[in-house]
Amino acid sequence: MIKVGVLGSNGRMGTASCAAVDAADDMELVARIASKDDLDALVAGGAGVAIEFTTPDSVMENVRFLTTNSIHAVVGTTGLDADRLKTIGSWTEETGTNVFVAPNFALGAVLMMHFATQAAAHYDAAEIVERHHPGKLDSPSGTSLRTALLMAGAHDGPFEALGVAAGHEGAPGEKHHGVTIHSLRLPDSVAHQEVVFGGSGETLSIRHDSLDRTSFMPGVLMAVRKVSSLPGLTVGLERLLDL
Ligand code: NAP
Repeated sequence: MIKVGVLGSNGRMGTASCAAVDAADDMELVARIASKDDLDALVAGGAGVAIEFTTPDSVMENVRFLTTNSIHAVVGTTGLDADRLKTIGSWTEETGTNVFVAPNFALGAVLMMHFATQAAAHYDAAEIVERHHPGKLDSPSGTSLRTALLMAGAHDGPFEALGVAAGHEGAPGEKHHGVTIHSLRLPDSVAHQEVVFGGSGETLSIRHDSLDRTSFMPGVLMAVRKVSSLPGLTVGLERLLDL
């Protein structure tokens, strides 16, 4: 049995994570940590792995606690930029505790990013439209930022030129890694993203919709099962899939 704690247990993702852990035959939910709870309950409960779905403001302090206390971490909270990931990587080296981070735990979203990365090698114009619920604290989404990063890495030459004519700023949106990202925040949304590529006389759209938070749970449980055997910091659910 894997003893699991959940941080952010009263939140949308935390609630779904507690239910998924409860329903898993090989896991025991030993601690539910809401914002006012003492993290020591994780140690007292003997947690071997903790799932972290809180806020960009809380996540670093929580991961520091987990690594210091030898509790492997599965982190879904967004807002972990390159500098923060570097810091977390140093903590894993210092403590020998593993951390798994995924901006998106939905299988379809990972495939969407994978296909968009493949397509990026063949198109010189691309933009991303992401849509989430109005309660989401960060913008653009972590998934869209990671997609843009992967697309930039797959393109031959700087991605800056993509989708933007010389001297033209392109459509409104935020540009990251050379890709313009449009962020919509609308009621009754969960997590939705479309990557649109433009070529001569054609467009290619690669789209994924999470319709319910249960879509993230198979990926979360997969990471909980594997994190103890993944040394250091691992980023991206694709690292666990045979793509
Ligand atoms: P949410 O409903 O707002 O839940 C966040 C929860 O974190 C709240 O219940 C909050 O408690 C709690 N919290 C804040 N600080 C805490 C702390 N120090 N210790 C313990 N709990 C703390 O947000 P959500 O929709 O569940 O999303 C959570 C995070 O996951 C966001 O960053 C979101 O972007 C991300 N996300 C990731 C994925 C993925 O697949 N990776 C998917 C969906 C969402 P209080 O209400 O008491 O303040």
